[in-house]
Amino acid sequence: MTISKILSDKTYDVVVVGGGIVGLASAYAAIKKGLSVAVVERQSQNKDASVRNFGFVTVSGQRRGEHWQRAMHSRNVWAEVAPKAGIQVEHRGLHMLMQRPEAVDVAEAFLKTEMGKDCRLLTPSEINEVVPYLKKGEGVLYSPHELRVESNTAIAKLAHWLEQAQGVDFYNQTTVTSVELPKVRTSRGVLKTEHCVVCPGADFTSLYPDVLATTKAKMCTLNMMRVMPKQAFKLNAAVMSDLSFARYDGFAQLPEAEPLKNLLDDIQSVERQAGVHLIVVQSADGSLIIGDSHDYSDRELPFRDTRIDDLIINEFHRVMGVGEIDITQHWLGVYPSANEVVFKTSPEKGVVIGSVTGGTGASTGFAFGEELIDLVLESK
Ligand SMILES: Cc1cc2nc3c(=O)[nH]c(=O)nc-3n(C[C@H](O)[C@H](O)[C@H](O)COP(=O)(O)OP(=O)(O)OC[C@H]3O[C@@H](n4cnc5c(N)ncnc54)[C@H](O)[C@@H]3O)c2cc1C
Repeated sequence: MTISKILSDKTYDVVVVGGGIVGLASAYAAIKKGLSVAVVERQSQNKDASVRNFGFVTVSGQRRGEHWQRAMHSRNVWAEVAPKAGIQVEHRGLHMLMQRPEAVDVAEAFLKTEMGKDCRLLTPSEINEVVPYLKKGEGVLYSPHELRVESNTAIAKLAHWLEQAQGVDFYNQTTVTSVELPKVRTSRGVLKTEHCVVCPGADFTSLYPDVLATTKAKMCTLNMMRVMPKQAFKLNAAVMSDLSFARYDGFAQLPEAEPLKNLLDDIQSVERQAGVHLIVVQSADGSLIIGDSHDYSDRELPFRDTRIDDLIINEFHRVMGVGEIDITQHWLGVYPSANEVVFKTSPEKGVVIGSVTGGTGASTGFAFGEELIDLVLESK
């Protein structure tokens, strides 16, 4: 393991704590303003939510209003930055299988909102041609906005590009222990800075624990899997289905979603209680990432409940007609969950804390990073 570089004695404009997507997005936003930036990351590189997610940059389904706008803007930034940073966009768009008539009502209501612009229902012949791998249902809602990156490698590539092409200094394997501007104290010495942006992800206990406690966030644990279909096929866009219409705020908060939610609470109560819904995305080798579940008990247990995996796999086979699959990887992920989808505040002059508290940082991180940099510059 290579040890991170010696700490510079220069005074940075901004020190960012945390090398997840929110930290990297903040660093990028600061660089675009011509500021000098350092990122301090506790691990050799991020191993948390930012690399454990689907890499699914989702627009349709995000909470209506400001958060949907964040996702749309962040999607545009991903599209601009990905080729520069050598990050491949694996696929674009989203197909939502409507398994029941109640889901069609939600999709039709969604299409009438401003969020439905450029989205549409596929025709029967398009369904046969474009999504032959979906089981028969009541129809398919198509959204063109989404894109998918392989987070497992994309976050490291983004950090590398920020360092090599944009001049950001990275101090990895370095833990920030306190912020007392102009000093940022770390496990390897002191960095000096005008501003500090703390992007701790789900670590609500190391820095500013009292401030972060005001979010009343609970740690949500998710089950995830990688599977390899025995018969190769190409996924043309990410896939979701009825349980997602009932879960994602942009759909679920529409009044027309009530009948679907009530129905699913009745006929898929086990899945609903476990927070299971289906997202399917594909990697370059043809494997699929499938998930997920949501345990809001705040326990962050290290033990994976395989019964939850079974619920996800069963749902996968209800939605996708692709035959047998081999499960090749299992993992858990954690994110902070609160009523508000993001938390940002300035606890003192020149310092800002930001965390995505709605499990959507891959989709909204670039916009959120810009907000954090604007806030920290205002806070001086
Ligand atoms: C299983 C799973 C699936 C998900 N799927 C999606 C998805 O498909 N689409 C989507 O939009 N969102 C998804 N999310 C949510 C998304 O991944 C998160 O919202 C996002 O990654 C949060 O990024 P972050 O930078 O805030 O946090 P993190 O990725 O947790 O990064 C925080 C970093 O800060 C570092 N750090 C913390 N404290 C210190 C300190 N004191 N000193 C130094 N370093 C420190 C940590 O080591 C860590 O690297 C998913 C989340 C999970 C768990």
